[in-house]
Amino acid sequence: MIKQNLLDIHKELPPDVKLVAVSKFHPMEAMLEAVEAGQLCFGENRPQELQKKVHDFHEAYPEIAGRLEWHFIGHLQTNKLKLVLPYASLVQSIDSLHLLQAVDSWGKAEGRTVNILMEMHIGAEQTKQGFVEEEALDILFNASKYRNIRFCGLMGMATHTDSEEDIRADFSRISSFHSYCRDLFPELCDFRELSIGMSDDWRIALDYGATMVRIGTAIFGPRQY
Ligand SMILES: *Cc1c(COP(=O)(O)O)cnc(C)c1O
Repeated sequence: MIKQNLLDIHKELPPDVKLVAVSKFHPMEAMLEAVEAGQLCFGENRPQELQKKVHDFHEAYPEIAGRLEWHFIGHLQTNKLKLVLPYASLVQSIDSLHLLQAVDSWGKAEGRTVNILMEMHIGAEQTKQGFVEEEALDILFNASKYRNIRFCGLMGMATHTDSEEDIRADFSRISSFHSYCRDLFPELCDFRELSIGMSDDWRIALDYGATMVRIGTAIFGPRQY
């Protein structure tokens, strides 16, 4: 089932768009099935779960563990950095200045550069995390201050709605803002990624220049919370 789902997605996904398989709440066995189908990049949204899975893979399947790529996609508290940053090749969900500063400090202390996306507040829900455009611009104007951060682009979640028109409006806005930033800050040469699109809206996201899609349910089935 998982293998077939991945095959079906790859039939429609352009080869230059990266598929992040969102494995949160799914066990290692489900992930192994995805690995057998060639999927090596996984997204997790809880620090403890990420750390445990990395550890479990290293214990049980060291040869696979070395090939996996982990993205963190959830809300990250500054007291949890050490559960996430040693393992995540990309933190997609930097959603506040405070968090950005803490991640930069961690990088400095560890002698590491941390790859990040800035999460933009694009959906209609007040509860959603993320920066508004002015906040993101303020940070990018000062990007060189954050010496241990590599700004790799933007992430966003569209409004949770059946209205395709509203989803398109959200994606259109973040996509334009991404292009605007790339023009304004050509020195940020890594600012290429636009991570938009989940199980229900990834096909739409492709119309707006998604370079990464984050898909959970459509690969692994419903999550058991
Ligand atoms: C859970 C999650 C996803 C995947 O959601 P699905 O609808 O299951 O594809 C994508 N992005 C983020 C940030 C998530 O938290």
